[in-house]
Amino acid sequence: MNFKSQPRALNQTHLLLQLKDLVTGLRHHLEEERAMGLEGWPKSSVPPRKKAPSPPPAPPSSSLTLEEVREELGDCRRCKLHSTRTNIVFGTGNPKARLVFVGEGPGRDEDLQGKPFVGLAGQLLTKIIQAIQLTREEVYIANIIKCRPPGNRNPEPDEIQACEPFLIKQLEAIRPKLICALGTFAAQTLLKTEGKISLLRGRFHQYQGISLMPTYHPAFLLRNPNFKRDVWEDMKKIKKEYDLL
Ligand code: URA
Repeated sequence: MNFKSQPRALNQTHLLLQLKDLVTGLRHHLEEERAMGLEGWPKSSVPPRKKAPSPPPAPPSSSLTLEEVREELGDCRRCKLHSTRTNIVFGTGNPKARLVFVGEGPGRDEDLQGKPFVGLAGQLLTKIIQAIQLTREEVYIANIIKCRPPGNRNPEPDEIQACEPFLIKQLEAIRPKLICALGTFAAQTLLKTEGKISLLRGRFHQYQGISLMPTYHPAFLLRNPNFKRDVWEDMKKIKKEYDLL
């Protein structure tokens, strides 16, 4: 028996086993991506989440809690949308979320279920959130307006004026560190600008001292999948900031 060749044989076996593990891991990763319908997404280069240092205790706040904001909203009839809505879509997720997504307003599915982003665009938003290794339960999701405009038309100025104060109070209650404004409407309303989303996206803006990243709306991505790459770039920037919190 050749005793000298044994360690080498063992090394080779070990290397082969490691290689096999790598291939299996890669296959699982690809299967996961396919299952999420993310073939169109660039490969994740987001590093694994670092353990963030625990944040300092929040200073006492005079703002309302989310439940109190919901109570104040009540069975809202402050604008004409109340007469055609099925449900008010207040918002869902973590009341202490560090990241809040803000969309435009409920569509048909959201109006029927009373929850934001549950239709096709919502399913894509869920995948986008998962692509940065977060869940819908960890973040908070809301809209500029809380009732569906008939036929999904754009919200009108009087409707925004009536509804925006409640989003502002929700954000005051949650006190997120990051906001992602989904689409032209959310970005322009929150940032008080008429700038184009293509020019606003890709960099952080400031909203009441909170870093806000505008990006394309998931419904737009469904029609224009080529823009997923830009959204992915924006999401990586959000994730980088999130991991530093
Ligand atoms: N589009 C939005 O902007 N918000 C929703 O909740 C659903 C679709």
